[in-house]
Amino acid sequence: MKFTDLQEALKAFKNGDPIIVVDALSRENEGDIIFPADSSTPEKINFCASKGRGLICIAIDLSTAERLDLKPLRSNQQDLFHTAFFDPIDAAVKHGTTTGISAHERSLTAKLVTDKNATPTDFIKPGHLFPVVAKKQGLLEREGHTEASVDLCKITGHYPAAIICEIMQEDGTMMRREGLFSFAKEHGLPIVSIQQILDYRILTENHVVHSSSAQLPTQFGNFTVHVFKNNFTQTEHIALIKDSNPNKKPIVRIHSECITGDVLSSLRCDCRDQLEKSMKLIQEHGNGILIYLKGHEGRGIGLSNKIAAYALQEEGLNTFEANEKLGLPRDNRNYQDAVWMLKYFNIEDFDLITNNSDKLNTVLKNGLSANITQVNSQVTSYNERYLKDKINIAKHKIILEQ
Ligand SMILES: [Zn+2]
Repeated sequence: MKFTDLQEALKAFKNGDPIIVVDALSRENEGDIIFPADSSTPEKINFCASKGRGLICIAIDLSTAERLDLKPLRSNQQDLFHTAFFDPIDAAVKHGTTTGISAHERSLTAKLVTDKNATPTDFIKPGHLFPVVAKKQGLLEREGHTEASVDLCKITGHYPAAIICEIMQEDGTMMRREGLFSFAKEHGLPIVSIQQILDYRILTENHVVHSSSAQLPTQFGNFTVHVFKNNFTQTEHIALIKDSNPNKKPIVRIHSECITGDVLSSLRCDCRDQLEKSMKLIQEHGNGILIYLKGHEGRGIGLSNKIAAYALQEEGLNTFEANEKLGLPRDNRNYQDAVWMLKYFNIEDFDLITNNSDKLNTVLKNGLSANITQVNSQVTSYNERYLKDKINIAKHKIILEQ
């Protein structure tokens, strides 16, 4: 049982094909068949009715509901997950509908919803297709199938409306995880989780905004400090800029927060050493930026967990085994916010101070051009094993300075 790679599922969806989307085990724990409403066919609707067996809804955005003058159904707020049902509809008789319920007619109604020229007079209320309206920010606001559907349409360039139908078993009970995977396999459909779609949005959309800046004299030279905030994760990051030699190719350091090393001068890692050497290098070079990413303590597992991992290392585990023993990933960092910050300053071609190929790969993947430049890491009796494990296990290319 493995979810489909999201890119593969997006490709199918873009093509107008149905995919299965499951929500969290802690939520409804259901799987829905979803496809773009502008690609509706009687066959796809019939597949939902005969194999999905749930209620066939059309997930739309609020502006579509407003354009078609659809109103929210009166709610007594007993729906556990507050699904926003609006007036059910059929295409008007002038479009050739009779009862509105056949697969052919529901498909017609769905396609008409996606016609930007359609107006309220093109529909009959109440009808047999049930509009559910997504929250404005989609999955960033509510992790439901409605939001996932509209988000999928926006990501793949379809009109923001999708047919959505829960999957029920033949005996009338809801189909759960294992059954859903078999169902997907049987019908050759991609199956993804809401979490995958949410992660994709967090990673590909820029939520980083510039909030303030000022001069910052330091013992390594005078810099301009800028603060950025990721409005989704609420994490603040810092950029230190030096631009006294603007004609030189900039040097960039993307530094992961490490309070024990950077602030308390811990010898368990080489973070402070790398930070200070980077600042000196940028100062001497006269053109560069140091990006200090918060939220990266302990390779992204947080400060409490990092210290717990240190305790495990005292018992003999290496830095990666310790994270795993705590049930946490070896490395939970992503560098996407740094990319948005570099783009903010139009820094697109630079030398990157790092020994970590993940950082280089992130900037290259985002269309920036970078060459690696390295600073030596000072070896002490405290950090020797840590550095060697990073070289041998995580394949970091560290130049040791004895
Ligand atoms: Zn450190």
